[in-house]
Amino acid sequence: MRHTLAREFNNLIERGRDRQLRLAVTGLSRAGKTAFLTSLVYQLRHAGLEARLDLLPAAREGRLMGAQRIAQKDLGVPRFPYDQAMASLDGTPPQWPEPTRGISELRLIIRYRPERSGLFGGLGSSNATLTLDLFDYPGEWLLDLPLLEHDYFSWSQRQQRTLSPERRAMASDWLDAVAALDPAAEADEAELATIAEHYAESLRAAREAGFADLQPGRFLLPGDLEGAPVLQFFPLPGLDKDDRKHLDALPKESVYHTLARRFAYYQQHVVKPFYREHFRRFDRQIVLVDVLGALNAGPERFEDLSRALATLMQSFDYGQRSLLSRLFAPRIDRLAIAATKADHVTPEQHPNLVTLLEALLAEPIKDLRFADVPVKALSLASIRATQAHEVEHKGTRTQALRGVTLNGEETLIFPGEVPTRLPRHDFWARQGFAFNAFRPLSQDVRGEGLPHIRMDAALDWLLGDKLT
Ligand code: GDP
Repeated sequence: MRHTLAREFNNLIERGRDRQLRLAVTGLSRAGKTAFLTSLVYQLRHAGLEARLDLLPAAREGRLMGAQRIAQKDLGVPRFPYDQAMASLDGTPPQWPEPTRGISELRLIIRYRPERSGLFGGLGSSNATLTLDLFDYPGEWLLDLPLLEHDYFSWSQRQQRTLSPERRAMASDWLDAVAALDPAAEADEAELATIAEHYAESLRAAREAGFADLQPGRFLLPGDLEGAPVLQFFPLPGLDKDDRKHLDALPKESVYHTLARRFAYYQQHVVKPFYREHFRRFDRQIVLVDVLGALNAGPERFEDLSRALATLMQSFDYGQRSLLSRLFAPRIDRLAIAATKADHVTPEQHPNLVTLLEALLAEPIKDLRFADVPVKALSLASIRATQAHEVEHKGTRTQALRGVTLNGEETLIFPGEVPTRLPRHDFWARQGFAFNAFRPLSQDVRGEGLPHIRMDAALDWLLGDKLT
């Protein structure tokens, strides 16, 4: 009895406290962050009304009463453009929201009825609130964490190693310009700015072509640093370990030392502040991965995604000796990893999609579990754009998807199977994978609410325990 009483008191105190959760959404460009955050806000705001959230107990039990947007605390961070995103989805024809390009934030107050009525009768039926601070930031920024382990010389050498023949071809302007540069010469601001722009262009071209393992991340998504000198550096190719002594001895005004200073400045004033001021303060995070998009793009891109994810996930390695723990002592207590756009494949393929995601992230997931960070992998569609149908195909009943392509054509497709293991040679030779992008469903087709697949499961993992 004493025990129960103590627990009830604790519950009381807990509920009375200002309860708050800082939840961050990340993923590489086009992974689906904007769609996810838009849907998340929509589903919570419409909980108890149009939103279908059966996998979230608070909603299923009718205890979730909805959410309201309120002014955020951090005035230095742009607000997530939720209204614009909804306007695009509700347009004629409906369109995908314009993706965000830097960090953005939105604050919601969630109102719910706690689960148990408890000893103090009536208490359970009174309302409680949870303040949810949502953040959205580019996964590309996390690709910069390993850069903190380097100095300019070793970073240049590492970049050299990532230049595959295809990437070299995309970087030919930069490679030509940098070949003519003498590291010992006195630095010319304008010249360095031009070469840096060639370098940024080569990264953008690589990203357009589907590559993801690209550094520095801010060159792709500069946010408010567009055009700033801190982004005007690049690696020096062709360095040999014997060059270090000679380069170190060059005058301070030399090209080499100027680039090295900018690199160090980038580490101190761009990479570290993001971890210190934002990342370290997130309680929970979800990492979105466009696994199907990478399958669609072929073997080289798929491998590149795998490498980029391995780098990105280092930011979640909380092992005692990890770079991250040494520098920033993060405090995240839960992580979700989600394969997005699951509506591109038929429902019976969804378990395969999760298995493939787990295979893609096998090492990082193992490390996270070892470091005792609870992690869950799932597949979802933030905004479902297709409808699953069973059709008669060549005499057998087959699962198919119906949707409208981006240029407005109605299509019925058989997307094929998702492999459960990392695809090998024969997969690409035999099957490959082909899907079109779909337009979001129009309001008259989708009816009430914003259709999704397992947004409620993601919500349950990310905040369900706070709504009990
Ligand atoms: P971000 O760059 O990570 O913010 O990615 P977005 O949220 O802008 O998503 C990129 C594109 O992926 C969108 O324009 C859509 O074409 C597609 N997409 C995102 N989420 C979904 C989804 O749930 N279903 C489908 N079919 N497509 C999606």
